[in-house]
Amino acid sequence: MKAVVIGAGFAGLATAIDLQERRHQVTLLERRGVLGGRATSYRDAVSGEDVDNGTHLMVGAYAATFDLVRRAGAEDLLLFQDDLHIDYVDDRGRSSLDCPPLAAPLHLIGGLLGLKLPWVVRWQALRLWLAVRYGQPPLGLTLAEYLRRAGQGREARRLLWDPLATAILNEAPERAAAILFYNVYREAFLTRREASRLVFLRRGFAELHERMARYFQHRGGVLRRRALAEEVVLTSGRASGVRYTQRSETREDIRRGKPGVQGFLEADAVVAAVPWNAAPGLLPEPWPAQPPFAGLSRLGGSPIVSVEMWLDRVVVDRAMVGLRDSEMEWVFDKGAIYGREGPPQHLAFIVSAARRSAERSNQELAASAEASLRRYFPAMAKATVTRSLVLREADATFASDPEAEALRPGPVTPLRGLYLAGDWTATGLPATIEGAVRSGLAAARAAEAG
Ligand SMILES: Cc1cc2nc3c(=O)[nH]c(=O)nc-3n(C[C@H](O)[C@H](O)[C@H](O)COP(=O)(O)OP(=O)(O)OC[C@H]3O[C@@H](n4cnc5c(N)ncnc54)[C@H](O)[C@@H]3O)c2cc1C
Repeated sequence: MKAVVIGAGFAGLATAIDLQERRHQVTLLERRGVLGGRATSYRDAVSGEDVDNGTHLMVGAYAATFDLVRRAGAEDLLLFQDDLHIDYVDDRGRSSLDCPPLAAPLHLIGGLLGLKLPWVVRWQALRLWLAVRYGQPPLGLTLAEYLRRAGQGREARRLLWDPLATAILNEAPERAAAILFYNVYREAFLTRREASRLVFLRRGFAELHERMARYFQHRGGVLRRRALAEEVVLTSGRASGVRYTQRSETREDIRRGKPGVQGFLEADAVVAAVPWNAAPGLLPEPWPAQPPFAGLSRLGGSPIVSVEMWLDRVVVDRAMVGLRDSEMEWVFDKGAIYGREGPPQHLAFIVSAARRSAERSNQELAASAEASLRRYFPAMAKATVTRSLVLREADATFASDPEAEALRPGPVTPLRGLYLAGDWTATGLPATIEGAVRSGLAAARAAEAG
C-alpha cells in the first residue's frame, strides 16, 4: 500500500513508523523544517541548551509512546522516576505526594495518607479514589461537577485536584470534561504502580522526533520537510493522493523568497495527522462543511504559556515543583533534567489553560515567574535572573468540555482512503502525547484494514 501521512508530530510519526514497519510505502509530509509539531524544541544559541515550546511531562501509563520510542531506539532519552513523587510549595512550606513502592492502588493510598494536608482533605481524596474505582464513568459532566458529586471540598480542589487536573487537561475544572480526568486517573493510578510515576525527556522534544524520523527513514520511509499539504485529492469519492507545495530548503532560497514547487503524491491511503483546526482545510468542497469535519470548527483552542529563566545560582533543588496559589503553576529544573549540575540554573515555568496569562506582556510574565521564586524559595534572596524567555502556544490543545467530546471523530472518515490522527481525535484521553500516539496507531491499523 502507498500511504501519505500529513504532519510529523507524535501522531503522524506513530502512523508513519507503524505502516513503514509493516512494509507499506510511506511518505511523511511536514510543513515545517523542525519536527514534533506541538511537542518540539530548539537549541538556544546563548545557553547551548534545548528550549521546549513548553515543558512536556509524561507518566508511566504512556505505554504506546514508550513502545514507539523503544522501537525507534531512543529509550535512552527517557528519564523515569522510581515511584510517583510530586513536590509542592506554598506559603506554609513544602509538602509532597510520595507514593511508597507498593502494588497499585496501595501505593496511591499510601501516598495520599502521607500527604501533609488537613485530615479532611486526605479523607476526601480517598472518597474520590472510591468514586473512580467503583462509581460510574462521569459522562456529560464537567470535572467541577464530578468533584462536587464525589464530595471534594474547596481545599481538596485547591491543594490537590485543580493543579493536577489543569495540567493534565489544559483546561479549568469548571469547563473540562470529567470523563477525561476519570480515564487518566484510572490508567495512571489504578492499574500498575509504574503507571503513575513521572517521566521526563533528557533532551528537547525535537531530538526525540529526529531520532524517530531517522528510524522511519532507515526503514525506507520518505520524509519531506517544508512540504505543505495543500489538498487531499479525491477520485470517484475516494482519497487518491495529496497535492503539496515543497518549499525551499536552503536559507538563501528562503531569504530570496524563492517560490515553492508544486507536487502530487498518489496514495491508496492518506492520513491527516494535523491539528484539528487544520484538518478541514485539506479537503475539497463540500467536505469541510460535512460531518465529522464540520464539528472540528466548533472545537476551540486552549493556550499554554511558558517562561524559561536562567539564574546565576541554584535555587530550586528539585526536578519539578508545584507552585500553589501562583500564576506560574509548575517549575522545572531543565538543567538537572538534561543531566547538568550546578549554575547557571535553567528553569522552565508553565501555566496551563493560560487564557489570562496569554494576555499579559512578556515582561509581566517573567516578573511573575521571578516573584514566585522570591516568594517560595529563600535561596532566591541572593540570586540574580540573568535571562528569561517567554513562549506562547495559543492553540496548545483543543479546549476540552463535555460537548467537545462528542465532536472528536475516530480515525475512519466517510471518505474512503482518508483517515484522521491527532490528539484531538476520539481517544478517550485528553490532548496528550499518549493520545496522539494511540491515535496514530489506530489510524495506521484502519488504513491497513482499508
Ligand atoms: C506548550 C505545550 C505543553 C504541553 N504539555 C504536555 C504534557 O506535559 N504532556 C503531554 O502529554 N502533552 C502535552 N502537550 C500536548 C502535546 O504536545 C500534544 O498532545 C501532541 O504533541 C499533539 O501531537 P499531534 O501529532 O496530534 O499534533 P501536532 O504536534 O500539532 O502535529 C501536527 C503536525 O502537522 C503539521 N502540519 C499542519 N498542517 C500541515 C500541512 N498542511 N502540511 C504538512 N504538515 C502540516 C504541523 O506542522 C505539525 O508538525 C502540550 C502541548 C503544548 C503546546
